[in-house]
Formats: sequence, C-alpha cells, structure tokens
Amino acid sequence: MTVTEASYRRRARKIVARALGHALPRKAHVHHVDGDESNNSNNNLVACEDMGYHKLLHLRTAAFQATGNPHARKCMLCDVWQVPGTGDMVVVTRSNRPSGDGRARHLSCHRQYEAQRRGVDNQSNESV
Ligand SMILES: [Zn+2]
Ligand SMILES: [Zn+2]
Repeated sequence: MTVTEASYRRRARKIVARALGHALPRKAHVHHVDGDESNNSNNNLVACEDMGYHKLLHLRTAAFQATGNPHARKCMLCDVWQVPGTGDMVVVTRSNRPSGDGRARHLSCHRQYEAQRRGVDNQSNESV
C-alpha cells in the first residue's frame, strides 16, 4: 500500500464515520464500490463490519464482473466460475466466516486433485 492509498483510506473512514454519526470500529473496513480508492463520494463507500465481509464484497464484485452473477465462485482448481449448488460446485466454508468466503471447487476437480496427490504420494513412497 502506498502513502497515497493510506491517506485515501483514512479520508474514506472519516467520511463514513461522519455519515454514520459515530466513529468506525477499529476492525471495520471501508469498501469502494467502483474499486477506485480515490473516489470518496458517499455513494461509493460501504462500511464493512470486518475484513471477512470486505473480502466477500470483493469476491461478489469479481463474480459479477466475470459472470454477471454475484453468487458465482471460481473453482480453486480449474479457475472456472460457477454458482455453488449448480453442477458439482461446492464451497467449503469455515464456520466463523460469512457464507461464501470459503474455498470453492468442483467435486470432480477435487476428486481429480486428490487422485493426483495420492499418485504423487505413492511415487514418493516407492522411491524411499
Ligand atoms: Zn473494497
Ligand atoms: Zn473446477
């Protein structure tokens, strides 16, 4: 992060705090809807309760830009976007995270990945 970005961020927090009528909690993040950190107009700023929610907003924005559907997720194994619950796309969510902030993958990709990993393990076992 550059000095300029940091100062933009501080300014953004001040603007959101003023709009809310109280200071932002320390762990809160400010999200820029259009992705431009220098655009601190009120309707470009979203207060996020924490980093997890902020990440989720970025995930949804990326999904929307890639597929037109903010709920789509990118398979971590084949890089193809798909909406979880359709086909064999699943999201592995950690319980303390907002839903959607997990690792998305196709079950078929996962099986292939596991098979490959086992194959590599077997080879290394044989060489020992
Ligand atoms: Zn953001
Ligand atoms: Zn996949």
